[in-house]
Amino acid sequence: MNQTDSQDHDHRHLDQDLRTLRIYLPDLRLLAAKKASVTAHSSHAGLRTTAPIPLNEGAWNLLEDIEHFAWSLGRAAGVRQRHVPTEGLLAAATNRVDRLLARPDAPIIKRMAATLVQRMGRQFEPPEDHTLIGYCQQCGSELWCAQDDLESGWTVCPSCGRTLKVREVQQARILRLASCGTQGTAAGLSQLLKRCGIFVRRKTISEWKRRGIIKPVKEQDGYPVYLLWDIWRAFTR
Ligand SMILES: [Zn+2]
Repeated sequence: MNQTDSQDHDHRHLDQDLRTLRIYLPDLRLLAAKKASVTAHSSHAGLRTTAPIPLNEGAWNLLEDIEHFAWSLGRAAGVRQRHVPTEGLLAAATNRVDRLLARPDAPIIKRMAATLVQRMGRQFEPPEDHTLIGYCQQCGSELWCAQDDLESGWTVCPSCGRTLKVREVQQARILRLASCGTQGTAAGLSQLLKRCGIFVRRKTISEWKRRGIIKPVKEQDGYPVYLLWDIWRAFTR
């Protein structure tokens, strides 16, 4: 490939990636906005509130990463107005691909755009029989595991190649959720854990309650509500 061909190639790829991100953004927002029946505390401007947690944490994180990337691209492409929606920033960047590719950090921009497009693809078409168990402790990549990995207890990060213990990855994710005071009914928490690749049946949780291993923190519509933290401790005891 001579230099002009290579420049054309870069231009086409980045242009396509930015368009893909913009086109699928509304669908990703819908996916990220679905909320579980499980709640957690969050603080905004000093106010502590309790709100349903995102059903699909992966989509939620991806949306935030795309918004942040679009904001940086907007600055790099010379967008000076404030409060431009993410779609607008991505459109502006698409119109100024040459300017972006002339920057010293162009390789990083290209790689980030390609990674975000790949992550978006996985959100809409998750790899069959794979579960997002958490994030690599070394590089932060998403870790999608097959049933085999879950059973063997080990997985390899597709980005940095590090071998990771499934239980530690899951634990990091659960502890982060638990530390926000995440709580829900037995059914709600069982669903939440299932999405991290951890199988705790609703009946098992009720059984722990009957045996006094866990105590509900309150009732909601006649159902006991538990702290995720307590369920996790009972599970790993
Ligand atoms: Zn990694």
